[in-house]
Formats: sequence, C-alpha cells, structure tokens
Amino acid sequence: MPEPARRPLISGNWKMNINHLETIQVVQKLAYRLTPADTGAADVSIHPPFTSLRSAQTVIDSDELPISLGAQNCHWEASGAFTGEISPVMLAKLNVRYVIVGHSERRQMMGEDDVMVSRKAGAVFANGMVPIVCVGETLDEREAGTTAAVVSGQVAASLDGLSPAQVGAMVLAYEPIWAIGTGRNATPEDAQEVAGIIRALIGERWGAPAAATVRLQYGGSVRPDNAAELLAAPDVDGALVGGASLDPDGLAAIVAAISQ
Ligand code: PEP
Repeated sequence: MPEPARRPLISGNWKMNINHLETIQVVQKLAYRLTPADTGAADVSIHPPFTSLRSAQTVIDSDELPISLGAQNCHWEASGAFTGEISPVMLAKLNVRYVIVGHSERRQMMGEDDVMVSRKAGAVFANGMVPIVCVGETLDEREAGTTAAVVSGQVAASLDGLSPAQVGAMVLAYEPIWAIGTGRNATPEDAQEVAGIIRALIGERWGAPAAATVRLQYGGSVRPDNAAELLAAPDVDGALVGGASLDPDGLAAIVAAISQ
C-alpha cells in the first residue's frame, strides 16, 4: 500500500517534567503500549527535557523502538557564547528528529518572536532535523475575531526564508493558547477551520505541492477521550500533546485513536 501523503504525527511534549531516570521507564512503557497497528498508522515522537534526551536516545536506539526523539527548543547558532542555550548541532548528534520551535510558552514567557522562530526553523533543517513550528491565538484575539489574521501572520513570518521543499517537509502545530493546559479544547470544527486557513496560506505562498504535504497538528488539551474527533478533521494530521503525554498509557491511547 502506498504511504499516505501526510502520515499522522503524534508528538508528546513533556515540557519541564520527567527526569532522566524516569525517562527510561516512560519510554519503555510507551513502546510496550504501542501496537504494530498504531505505529503502522502514525509516527510518534516524544520531546523530553534536554537533560533526558540522552537517556531516551539510548533506550530508543538500543531497543530499536518505533518512537522518534524530539526536542522542545534549540538556538539557531551552531555554537558560541549563548549561556544556557542548546545548539541544533548537539541535538542532531543525539539522533533528534523533530524540534518544537515557537511554542506559545516560549513566545509568551521567554519573549520568542517570529524572527527568532524562523531562524530556529531554518537551523533545524540545516542540521537534518524537522521543525514543529507552533502558532496560535490568545483568547482575546479569538474573541475579537482576529484568529485568522493572527495565525496567518505568525505562519508567514515564522516560515520566512524557508523553501517550498522545506515547508512541504515540516510540521506546523496549531495550538490555540486558550486551549493549552486548560482542559478546554477547541472543537473539531475550530481545529479544521484554522488548519484549512493555514494550508490555504501555504499553498498561496509556497505552492500547492508544499500545501499538500505539510503536516498540520492540532494542540491544546488533547486527551484519549477527545482525540478521535479532533484527529478526524481532514486538514489535521496529528496532535501535539502536553499534559496527557506524561502518561504513556494516555499517549498510546491518543495514537490508537488513529489506528482504530
Ligand atoms: C502543548 O504543550 O503543546 C499542549 C498542547 O499542552 P496540553 O496538551 O497540556 O494542552
């Protein structure tokens, strides 16, 4: 059977949780819970804190687990005087495949802007990895009716400088900020509406082939009980999962929403 044009990607963003010892157990348990049908139907990535990456890599590589390693952030420079930062070169050395860039928590709490996000996305590609670029509106912006304008502006600026081939190979996560960690998820209609706007914009700016293959995740309080309906939206190609991904049973149940 030919591969679908957009293979779903379920990504677990652990944020600042799970130390390097706990990581080994969590990764092993997740791999045990994922069935061949699950991993046949979707790609699965985990995004531990930097201090847990080496533990996760060792387990994944030595046991050849069907899980991709991801990071939560990186700097755009390869090396230098950037105290506290992590280089994309270092992540690539750990067999990291996906790097989240521009998560709303970094945009809001660490002052990351679209220019920084576009530099990071370019650096991730330059080091052979795939960026997961996050965009999304605040509650005020949604209530003011500016969701489409805000998200379109973020996409255009955050992907500035990427080639059509790069955009076609990347992942974009639509994460309404009011739905992250709040228990309040968007409806499947909300998710589809904004995913459709993003895909149309990509088609206009980067061309139809890029729009056909770019993977669009939805993120914001995705749980085992709401995953199936959110993931059924035609332009939603997976999920970026925060809280529910800390429990390997929960993340596996979300993946199973695709395979069943
Ligand atoms: C996230 O961190 O990207 C996220 C969507 O978190 P949560 O699933 O907890 O809302």
